[in-house]
Amino acid sequence: MLRIYMDASATTPLVPEVVEAMRPYWMERFGNASSIHLDGQQARGAVDRARDTMADFFNCHAAEVVFNSGGTEGDNTALFGLLRPGDRLITTAIEHSAIMEAAARLATMGVETTFVAPRPTGLIDPADVEAAIRPHTRLVSVMLANNETGVLQPVEKIGEIIARENQQITRTETGSAPGAIYFHIDAVQGAGKVPLDVRRSGCHLLSVSAHKMHGPKGVGALFVRRGTPMEPLLVGGGHERRRRAGTENVPGIVGMAKAAELAMLGLEDGSIPRLAALRDRLEAGILRIPGSGVNGVGDRDHPVPRVANTTNIWFDHVEGEALVIALDLKGIAVSGGSACHSGAVEPSHVLMAMGLDKTRARASLRFSLLKSASDADVECVLEALPEAVKRLREISPVAAGTLG
Ligand code: PLP
Repeated sequence: MLRIYMDASATTPLVPEVVEAMRPYWMERFGNASSIHLDGQQARGAVDRARDTMADFFNCHAAEVVFNSGGTEGDNTALFGLLRPGDRLITTAIEHSAIMEAAARLATMGVETTFVAPRPTGLIDPADVEAAIRPHTRLVSVMLANNETGVLQPVEKIGEIIARENQQITRTETGSAPGAIYFHIDAVQGAGKVPLDVRRSGCHLLSVSAHKMHGPKGVGALFVRRGTPMEPLLVGGGHERRRRAGTENVPGIVGMAKAAELAMLGLEDGSIPRLAALRDRLEAGILRIPGSGVNGVGDRDHPVPRVANTTNIWFDHVEGEALVIALDLKGIAVSGGSACHSGAVEPSHVLMAMGLDKTRARASLRFSLLKSASDADVECVLEALPEAVKRLREISPVAAGTLG
């Protein structure tokens, strides 16, 4: 059966150029980048070149790039590396679990967190972040693009607020001055879809993950602005200027850099507007199904910025997980807005925070297109989906009103 993959926000396949770039580093050039002999030097050279590419990707200095194992590690490092008992964290109610769970662990260590709620559109209002700042606020962590809705957050505005706040702190240096506020951006879902610029966004830390942008799984990078007092999460050898111990994953790092290079080209070759047009066509087609609507889109007068490949849609009287399975049986891969926690299907915390009720949150699906998506893929989904929704509604206890 021909399969159509519309779950690019979960992960993406490697592209041939990435595989080719990585290939020598599995076998012929297998050296440890810390070794001083020729084999080690070859590996070190590859890591250095990859670091330069990632510095271009972030618009930072090469020395500000720390290689790691992916988005979860980058997010954890930002939070655990900066926060100490008595500090306060501001984040949002729509972050990925890599931030939410880290915040929960930090709560047991005496770090209090304020979770800023999004507006019903899925957007975080920078004024709400500003209003949440208190003495001892040490870190603000806001995602660039939401992984469920694709909504792009106003990180530059938030960066400006933090910079302003930090200027005031320096000016009013008193005995009780709480110290600088640092800013972390989880850019895992934005990287490769919109340009990154750590200088413009005014962040001190920014995490990305290779597998969301056609690179390998289990490798990522964290931008750490020079002078940011971040303690390493992993200690051991002196790798990554003592900011992340562990032998470098040379093939992974090389693959991520190639993926970043291709992503930068892709931001300029018209592939993003093409993808947005395809996503819009898919969305418009799906919305012809009665009792459906988009989560995180705003309205005609106030459109909400989103990454080009994602749409999140609710279908009344449908159980999202059942629709994911029904589509899977038809060869279509998408994601539901729910997560399975200890056997119970919980509605998405993101959609709930946006004000959806549990039933609608459970009835929502995420469609996220690969860059290689075609008109034919969209046609196939538009053909299969109405029938799948209709069948589920016919047998749905939700539709029959028999669910409590
Ligand atoms: N942050 C966001 C917004 C994500 O979507 C993800 C993965 O889905 C992560 C962090 C975690 O990244 P990784 O899979 O590389 O650990």
